[in-house]
Parts: sequence; C-alpha cells; structure tokens
Amino acid sequence: MTWDAIVVGGGIAGLVAARELAHEGLRTLVLEQRDAPGGAVRAHTVAGLRLDAGAESFATRGGTVAALLDELGLADRVRTPEPHGSWVHLPHGDGPLPRTGLLGIPAHPWAADVRRTLGLVGAARASLDLVLPSTPADSLGELVRRRMGARVLDRLVRPIVGGVHAADPDDLAVDAVAPGLTTRGSLARAVRRLRASAPAGSAVQGLDGGLHVLVDALVADVESCGGEVRTGVAVTDARRTTDGWDVAGERAARLVLATPAAVGLLGIAAGEPDPGAQVTLVTLVLDAPELDAAPRGTGVLVARDATDVAAKALTHATAKWAWLARAAGPGRHVVRLSYGRAGAETPADVDVALRDASTLLAVPLEAGGLLGHAVVRWTQALPRPSAAHQAVVREVRTAVEALDGVAVCGAWVAGNGLASVVPDARAAARSVL
Ligand SMILES: Cc1cc2nc3c(=O)[nH]c(=O)nc-3n(C[C@H](O)[C@H](O)[C@H](O)COP(=O)(O)OP(=O)(O)OC[C@H]3O[C@@H](n4cnc5c(N)ncnc54)[C@H](O)[C@@H]3O)c2cc1C
Repeated sequence: MTWDAIVVGGGIAGLVAARELAHEGLRTLVLEQRDAPGGAVRAHTVAGLRLDAGAESFATRGGTVAALLDELGLADRVRTPEPHGSWVHLPHGDGPLPRTGLLGIPAHPWAADVRRTLGLVGAARASLDLVLPSTPADSLGELVRRRMGARVLDRLVRPIVGGVHAADPDDLAVDAVAPGLTTRGSLARAVRRLRASAPAGSAVQGLDGGLHVLVDALVADVESCGGEVRTGVAVTDARRTTDGWDVAGERAARLVLATPAAVGLLGIAAGEPDPGAQVTLVTLVLDAPELDAAPRGTGVLVARDATDVAAKALTHATAKWAWLARAAGPGRHVVRLSYGRAGAETPADVDVALRDASTLLAVPLEAGGLLGHAVVRWTQALPRPSAAHQAVVREVRTAVEALDGVAVCGAWVAGNGLASVVPDARAAARSVL
C-alpha cells in the first residue's frame, strides 16, 4: 500500500505530527510497536479506575497544549490541580515547596514557604543572588549552587528536577530544561520574569478523565481524516526508494520519525541519544479515609539525602484532581510513587511503595486497605537533556535537514513534557509538507 506519509512512533509526538499531516489531506500511516498508542501517555485500569500509567498533567507554558486540546474539542475537560501546594521530604523533616518558583528555584527567596524549607541561613544565602555579579555556569546545578547556594540546590531544585527529568541538575544544560532562564544576573528575577510572561493561573493542568483522553482524541482525529494508527509494528528498517521511503512493507513519500530509533533507522553518524532513566511508577488505590485531609497536599518530592524512603516522588492524585476524587468515591485514594534516579536502579514493588507512602504522607497505611495496585516500568521514556545529549540532537537535526521529506520529533529532540513535544511535532510535520 502507498501512503503520502508514514510516522514511526505512536506516542504524543507521532500522533500530533500525524494529525497535522492528515489535516492537510495527506494519507497518513502511524506505526507503533506496542499494542496501544500513547507512549508515555498510556492508560491502565487499577481497582476499576481508568488512570494515567505515565504522564498525568501538562505545563501551561506557551499555551500550545491548550490550543491543541481546544482544536480537539477537549477544552471543557481541562482541569486545574487543587490548590493544596506540595512538599519536599528532607532528612530532618518535611517542608513546603515554593508556590512561586521554576524547577524549585524560588522567585522570592524570603517568602515564608521558602524560609521554612531552607532555614534562615539558606534563605539568606539564596538572597545573595540579587546582588552577586553574573556567574557563568555549565549546568543548571552549577548555576543554582553559585547564585543561590547548596540549600536551594539540595532541598528544592534537585528533588524537583529528579522528579521531572529523572536526572541530576549537575548533568543538565540550562537552556534544555529551563528555556529563557538567563545565566546572566539574578536567577530570582529571571524566574519572576518567566512566570510573569506565562499564562495566568496554574503552571500545570490536566484533563477530566486523565491525560490519556488526549491519545484517544488524537487517534480518532487522525482516523477521521483517512489516516491509520497501526499498533504492534516495530520498525527496524527504513529504506530510501526513488520516490520516498519503504518502511515495514509500506511506502510513502514522506517520513516522520517520532522515536530516538531514528538515528539507527536513518543511519545518521551521530552519537547515541541519552537512553533515558529507568523509571518505575507504582500506583496504589487505597481505602484510606485518613488521607481525605490531604496531609501532604498534592504530593511530595524527596531530597536525595533523605534515605528513609526509596521513592523519589509521590503524587496524591485524588488530592490533586477533584474529578479523580469523585471517580474514586468517598475515602478512596489514588497515590502514585515514582522510583529511579539518574545512575541508580531502585527496585520498587507494592510493599516498598506502601511503606514509602506511609512515611511520605505521615499516615500509617495498611496492606488491608489496598484495593489495587500497578507497577509500570518505563525505559527510554525520559531522555536526560544533558549537554552531550543536546550535542547529539544538534547533529541529528543537521543531518535530517539535508534529507528531503524527512523529519524527526519527540521528547528525545524537543525535551521532556507535552509543552515541548507538541509544538515541536507540529513543526516537524509542517517541515515535510
Ligand atoms: C512516568 C512518566 C511521567 C511523566 N509525566 C509527565 C507529566 O506529568 N507531564 C508532562 O508534560 N510530561 C510527562 N512525562 C513526559 C512525557 O510523557 C513525554 O515527554 C512525552 O509523552 C513523550 O512523547 P513522545 O511521543 O516523544 O515519546 P513516547 O511517549 O516515548 O512515544 C514514543 C513511541 O514510539 C514507539 N516506538 C519507539 N520505537 C519504535 C519503533 N522502532 N517502531 C515503532 N514504534 C516505536 C514507542 O513504543 C512509543 O509508543 C512523563 C513521562 C513519564 C515516563
């Protein structure tokens, strides 16, 4: 069969690119190796609840995800998290995370929540940021340490970056994780400027029913335009033909690769993209009315030197999303724990997760209250945007630009998170039109 376009990878990037192409009237085929599309935005069912198995919210920055949801008729399902705030678990106790910050970098080092978590000494050191001269830095970690001190790095930034990117700030390029965050002058002022230019309201939002509703809507839209999303096809080879590409027995004039497998499929002589951390997500559905009070708000991030738990983050999903609390019913709670730090394999199972949840929520949780659980192991799902990875991405982009009718997209080139992936995938599709 001959198509106008083939997209390899049926994650959000591939589906968004395919939708863009299908809307332009191109007959488009998506090939996805798993038995269901969605990639890191897949769904699963736990104790009768349809839940996100991976991503559960999107950053509102740029407005690009909201615009897509609007086009798909999902605008009325967009929800803002409950305003409970979140916490960081430290060796000497728990503290609130700054409500106004960026990746944990406080916009106001003297704010009460920041002082409580950093202590007076830490807050005073962080305030030096306002007067220090410009400090060049090679990584996000170095930048924060130099300008605001070790406490901001260890108690705020490292736990958040570990939770979002499964990486250490010392390994991350500043512009890859915080575009627009200047390395010149005050960090706090830069964070304030960035937040002021972001849309009003919450920095993240979700969808009533779960983020995976987006996957269903994208697939339906691609199909309604004559496209096809075919699952269970692992693409191992892409051959140039005289007028396009031959992929898994299908032919097309245009090829969009929404997976890091692109490097091998196109035979690009670049280094290897970052393989991504191994992240395990344990979801617990609990009958635990003692959690109704949301003891740790919408969730807890864990500082690296807090050794009493193995988890790096906990999301109290029923405290975060009112629609989910209603779906779960009175006294029932959904708690998600994530495991896996850069360079470390953390074995995680339901018993460890139950113990960690008890510690992090400061509420004893018994196995008898467990209504259901799921353990999902993610590999290659969160590429760490280190300087080395960014160099590979630049090489790949240059090589692909020289190929007619070919584009790459996805978190591995655009950065993690839907707010980065969606606009990049749309641009990739437009580049082959
Ligand atoms: C546990 C977890 C939680 C997250 N939470 C959030 C969040 O709350 N908010 C947020 O914005 N982001 C979050 N993210 C990140 C976000 O989900 C990803 O950045 C985004 O979904 C990546 O989309 P993608 O299409 O680039 O890649 P993927 O979702 O990885 O999709 C790539 C797809 O390509 C397929 N594929 C790969 N190779 C081949 C091949 N050779 N042939 C055929 N198919 C192939 C894969 O099976 C996969 O389905 C989270 C990620 C994880 C893992």
